[in-house]
Order: sequence, then C-alpha cells, then structure tokens
Amino acid sequence: MLDFTTVFVFSTAISIFVCIVCGLAWWNDATGLETRHWFIASLLQLTCSLLIILNDVIPLDIGGYLSGIISTAASGYLALGYRQLYGQDSRSRGILFVSFWTGTAVYLTKFLTDGQQDGIWLLYLGGSVNLIVAAQAVCRGLRAEKPHSGGQRCRYGRFAAYILIGYAAAYVVISPLAFFYPIQFVDGKPVSFWLQVTTIPLVLLNMAAYLVTLVVKLERATERQRHLANHDGLTGALNRKAFYDAWSRRAGQDGVLVVIDIDHFKSVNDSYGHHAGDDALKAFCEAVKQALPPGAVFGRLGGEEFALLLTGSHAGDAAHLLHDLRDVVSGLSVSARDSRAFSITFSAGYVGFDAGEDDMDRIFAAADRALYAAKNGGRDRAVAFDPGSVLRRDVEHLRSAVVSPANPTQVSA
Ligand code: GH3
Ligand code: MG
Ligand code: MG
Repeated sequence: MLDFTTVFVFSTAISIFVCIVCGLAWWNDATGLETRHWFIASLLQLTCSLLIILNDVIPLDIGGYLSGIISTAASGYLALGYRQLYGQDSRSRGILFVSFWTGTAVYLTKFLTDGQQDGIWLLYLGGSVNLIVAAQAVCRGLRAEKPHSGGQRCRYGRFAAYILIGYAAAYVVISPLAFFYPIQFVDGKPVSFWLQVTTIPLVLLNMAAYLVTLVVKLERATERQRHLANHDGLTGALNRKAFYDAWSRRAGQDGVLVVIDIDHFKSVNDSYGHHAGDDALKAFCEAVKQALPPGAVFGRLGGEEFALLLTGSHAGDAAHLLHDLRDVVSGLSVSARDSRAFSITFSAGYVGFDAGEDDMDRIFAAADRALYAAKNGGRDRAVAFDPGSVLRRDVEHLRSAVVSPANPTQVSA
C-alpha cells in the first residue's frame, strides 16, 4: 500500500496537470464563461492538494479541513461551469452556500463534541451535494437538447453525467466510513485504512471529471458547427443545401414536394420594417415546424421561399396539411417595433413524385410551376401541379409563335 506522502504527491501532480489543461482551455476560449469556472475549480482543487502536501508548514488539522471546504467549493465551480455551458442559471450563490454550511457544520461538530468527532464525513457529503448539482445540470442540459439532436449525439455529455454521479456516489459511500472510523494522527500523519484505499480512485475520478468537461465542450462546439452548416441562422430551418441533401437521401421513397412563398413580403418589409419582416419569417417557420408530421423535412430555399419534403405522403395529405397550415399562419399576429400588429399569408405549389424519381430539377420545376399558378390565382392558396398545364402552355406558346410575324425563326425551329 502506498504511503500517505506518495499518494498526495501523486494527487498534487495530477492537480497541476489538470490545472494546466483547464487553464489552456480557458486561455483559448475567449467567450466561454464555463471554461473560466472550470479553471477556477481546478485552481481550487490544486490549492487543496497543496494544503495537504504542505502539512509540515500548515498542520493537517487546519490544512486538512480547509482543503475539504475548498474542495467542496471546487466541485461547486465544476457544477457552475456545466450550468453555464447548458445556458442555465449560473450564479455562484448556491455553490458557495454549500461550501459555507459544510465548513460551518464541520467546525460546529468539532466544537460541540469537544473534538471527539472530526466532522470529516460532512466534507464528503458537502462535496457530493455539489457533484450531484453538476450531474443534474448535465442531465437537464441533455434533456433540453434532445429534441434538436434527435437523441443521436451528446454521448460525451452522458459520459460526463455518469462520471459525476459515480464521483458523488463514491463520496456518499466514504462518508459513513469517515464517520465510523475517524482518521487517527500519528506524528502528525493521518492513519486510516479507508483514506489510503480511496484516495487514488478519488484522484482519478477527479481528473476524469475535469477532463471530460473539455470533451463535452468540444462535442458541443462541433455539434454547433454542424448545425450552423445545415441550418438557416434566422429561422433555424434547414438551409437550401441541407434540404437538397435530404431530397437525395430519401432513397426510393415516393412523396410530395411543396414549394412555399410568402405573399407580398416586400410590402411587409416596406410597411413594418425589416425587423418585423424577420420576426414574421421566424413566426412562420415556428408555425410550420409545429404543424409538420413526423419525418417531414422543412427548409428555407432563400429569402421568403421555403420547401417541404413529405416522403411517404400523397398529394391529398399535402393538401390537408397546407389547408391546416394556412389557417394557422393566417391566425399569426406579428408585432412591429411600433406595436402595430400584422399577419401574413403564403402561396404554395406541390407535386407528387414516384419512388424511382431522381430528377430533382424536374420535380422542383413542377412545384414551382404550381406555385406560379397559386400566385396567379390570387395568392393565399395551395395549388397542385397540373401536368396538363405544361401541355397547354406549350401548345399556346407554339400557337402564338405561329401567328406572330415578329418571330419567324421560332416557327421554323
Ligand atoms: P409575391 O407575393 O409575388 O411573392 O411578392 P413578394 O413581395 O413576396 O416577392 P418579392 O420577390 O418581390 O419580394 C421578396 C421580399 O422578401 C424582398 C426581400 O426584401 C424580402 N426578404 C427576403 N429575405 C428576407 C429576410 O431574411 N428578411 C426580411 N425581412 N425580408 C426578406
Ligand atoms: Mg419569392
Ligand atoms: Mg413572396
């Protein structure tokens, strides 16, 4: 079994390493408050190790307690970093409250029992409270993000939660050991079977708890980049490229393509301002997302033009959906900066396609043609693509070319 000094030298070396890594992460992360919290936590943790290792300078019955209280604050800052990362309330009051009361309880226990009880078990309990708060922050953050990630990603977030729960559980298990088997001091050095057995696993858990913060941060940054690459920044809908990708990935399924264009949107901007126009686009997209059936793909093609891909659906399903959507959108009330409220309408063109269809341009052109018909028909409506309209248009085009003396070359062609 390793002796007390070796164990704590090892622990200090690990704390220095963790502190350097967290410090570098903070240094390179100009905007992230979470990395600052984690760096503070690692500094506090290093202070704890130093307080114990310097037991020749500061007696252990002072340094040891102080170290325990600071360690509680360190796990609190760990929790605070996670709260910040997941956009939750990250005020430090709560965690400092835990450290303060842990410290007070330890000293009161010592005082009230005339030094018979050392209260170290309370330090383990205090630390576990903050670690549970950290794990709870991660679990809440993951739950809030699940609808966006589809439950597919964030595996390192879950890993972090397991480590924090494991770390807290270890503290909870050690606490009664500390209560029933108080640490003895021989020549100023602690003698305790459980302290010797548990210190190295706790140091490793502690290192894992700190290092995983950076992995979670990296995972979220990567996820954000992926999201930005595929989504429109204003409305959160898929961007044009991602929508086309979704079309290519639909692999052998039939369905309906809908192209949507908001009516007279230029006048909205002119009358209520560009900001109000942006708000209207956001409200429109939110309404569409709420109304979409599972599996439907919605994207912003550009400006005030959108597209819907309804795989496994038929033209009748699309007509129903667009009818419902029309009611929802016309009921939206968007407020301008000057508190005037307005509503919008949209026109849509849709076309069904077969499972074997692979000519995207042809299908988009057909949906566009139907949209054109909806606009010509007076707007605020959805029109299905009519293949006969192409034939009629071509015939009319030919007929006008034949009777037009101004276009002799086209006739001969
Ligand atoms: P129509 O019914 O024929 O579609 O008329 P419209 O006015 O909607 O069509 P038009 O193409 O003339 O104008 C589209 C307008 O949409 C012009 C442009 O300023 C506005 N627009 C495009 N993107 C955005 C955006 O992101 N925010 C805002 N506020 N306006 C946008
Ligand atoms: Mg348009
Ligand atoms: Mg428009």
